[in-house]
Amino acid sequence: RNSFFQLLYLMLVSTFHSAIIYDGLAILRLHDPHSYHLPIPLIICSINVLTFLIASYSNPGIITQKNVKYHLSFYKFDSVIFRRGDVCSTCKFMKPARSKHCKITDRCIYKFDHYCVWIGNAIGGNNHRYFLLLLFTLAVM
Ligand SMILES: [Zn+2]
Repeated sequence: RNSFFQLLYLMLVSTFHSAIIYDGLAILRLHDPHSYHLPIPLIICSINVLTFLIASYSNPGIITQKNVKYHLSFYKFDSVIFRRGDVCSTCKFMKPARSKHCKITDRCIYKFDHYCVWIGNAIGGNNHRYFLLLLFTLAVM
């Protein structure tokens, strides 16, 4: 793991969002100086950066020897994809349903989705909502 893509994301977002906000606010002020729309781009950009930081540095749902029993109770084993008794060959404990071993972070992740190079973290059950909010605010911007 390195921070190259995280820094690149923050640089791209800050550069382009600053330009858009600067130009957009100038146009909005020109047409309607008392517009209530003025703080909206700043709020959305702030939420975007905040969710980026939370998704990047939060625990995605790492399963450890201590919390594996807690995660085993979340989802039922369907005996098709997730079979009771499957053991992670790396972590050496029983894999909870809907969990997967992330090869990049080298940890079993609860509700593993993928490893995102842009946030430099795995997307799992604990940070999935922040990642989706990050994508939503990015699309809105
Ligand atoms: Zn594992």
